[in-house]
Amino acid sequence: MIDGDDLSRPASTAWLTGLSGAGKTTLANAAAHLCRQAGYSVCIIDGDQLRQGLCRDLGFDISDRSENVRRAAEMARLLNDQGIFVLVAMISPLKAQRAAARQLIGAARFCEVHVKADLATCERRDPKGLYARVRQGEVGQFTGVSSAYEVPPAPDLSLDTARLTVTEGAFCLLDVLLSAQLQEATP
Ligand code: ADP
Repeated sequence: MIDGDDLSRPASTAWLTGLSGAGKTTLANAAAHLCRQAGYSVCIIDGDQLRQGLCRDLGFDISDRSENVRRAAEMARLLNDQGIFVLVAMISPLKAQRAAARQLIGAARFCEVHVKADLATCERRDPKGLYARVRQGEVGQFTGVSSAYEVPPAPDLSLDTARLTVTEGAFCLLDVLLSAQLQEATP
C-alpha cells in the first residue's frame, strides 16, 4: 500500500472511458469514497461537470472533444503532481485522445480503465435521459449511436458493469489507483 503522505511516490490517475451510462461516474464516486476512507486525497474530474464550467465553450465535434480531453488531462497532471489521486470519468471516445492523455499525464501514472457495458444496457439504464432524447432526434453526435466509440484494445483494467456490482468495481479501481505497479506503457 502506498503511504498517502509520501510525495516522493507520485499519485496516479485512473482514466475511466466508456459509453454514456456505462457507469463511469458511479464507479468514480464509489472509488473516491473508498479512497478517502483509506486516508488518501482524491479528486474526481467528471466530463459532465467539466462541460458545465471549464469546458462550456466546447462542442462535440472531434476537435472540441479532443480539447475537452486535453483540459481534463492537464488538470489530472497538476493534481497528481501535488500528490492527489485522480479519477477521470469521461467518455473520451477515441484511442488517439486517450493516448494523448496518457502522454500528457505520464505513462507511469496513467491507468486506462474501460468501463464496459453494451449499448443496449446503457440505453436501458439511461440515467440522464439522454438516449431517449437521442432517439427523438434531439441530440446529434451522440457517442455509440451517431458518433464513434473506439473500444480500448488493451486497457489496464476492464470493468464489466453488467456483471460486477458497484462495490466490486470500486474496489478494483481503488486497487489499481493505489497499488498497481504502473509501468511505463506504450502510448
Ligand atoms: P456514465 O458516467 O458512464 O455516463 P453513470 O455512472 O452516470 O454512467 O450511470 C450509470 C448507471 O448505471 C447508474 O444509474 C448506476 O446506478 C447504474 N449501474 C448499474 N449497475 C452498475 C455497476 N455495476 N456499475 C456502475 N453503474 C451501475
